[in-house]
Amino acid sequence: MSTYIVLLGPPGVGKGTQAKILAERTGLAHISSGDLFRENIKNQTELGLRAQTFINKGELVPDDITIGMIRERLSLPDCAAGAILDGFPRTPPQADALQALLAEFGGHVHRVPFITASEEVLVERLSGRWTCRAQGHVFHEKFNPPKQPGVCDLDGSELYQREDDKAETVQRRIRVYFEQTASLVSYYKEQGLLVEIDGAQPIEQVTEQLFAALK
Ligand code: ADP
Ligand code: AMP
Repeated sequence: MSTYIVLLGPPGVGKGTQAKILAERTGLAHISSGDLFRENIKNQTELGLRAQTFINKGELVPDDITIGMIRERLSLPDCAAGAILDGFPRTPPQADALQALLAEFGGHVHRVPFITASEEVLVERLSGRWTCRAQGHVFHEKFNPPKQPGVCDLDGSELYQREDDKAETVQRRIRVYFEQTASLVSYYKEQGLLVEIDGAQPIEQVTEQLFAALK
């Protein structure tokens, strides 16, 4: 049976950072809906053009577009053993759609680590985040700095600050999280899948707590 893990938590809490570590250590695929949208925007696809206006405003991309994109990604062969989902689902209809999709592919959500941190921590993390152009590797100017400023340690590509990481958009994204995504905490708690993880700790300690929770 395939293993699907959903990482839940507000923007900037460290989902992407942890998802990459988990994927590397478990061999499961890493699916980041945000990375998939940014890839589509970079390649100027129709989906990318439709998503871009929402993303730049810090709003959620409509469910039908997002669910279609994830369905396609989950059907690729590298997801056969399961996947770490990072940034999806973000609304109750997306969570229902995920359940239906996984049933179709012969799997289910195994566990939902809910990573938490105060709003102050989120803002500090997002405002210092630097993202790699080529593959979306993530650094922080203070907490996880690249060896050479502006250059990705892993693939040498340019690091940039995301348009939606500027202060006003960050506030909007955090608000949108509370309005549209936070109810998934009780959704997964009711299913007995939720495990709370203290995301305010350093990266290595969050990873340790995550692995302990996934055993
Ligand atoms: P999310 O995917 O939840 O939006 P990221 O993984 O991109 O969050 O992390 C946001 C920023 O915070 C990045 O710059 C990352 O390097 C940094 N970061 C992630 N986890 C931690 C941590 N535990 N402590 C300090 N900084 C962190
Ligand atoms: P992220 O990289 O997870 O911070 O996502 C960046 C942006 O992409 C979000 O602010 C949304 O605009 C959009 N996005 C990512 N995932 C989703 C999703 N599951 N549903 C709707 N919009 C999403």
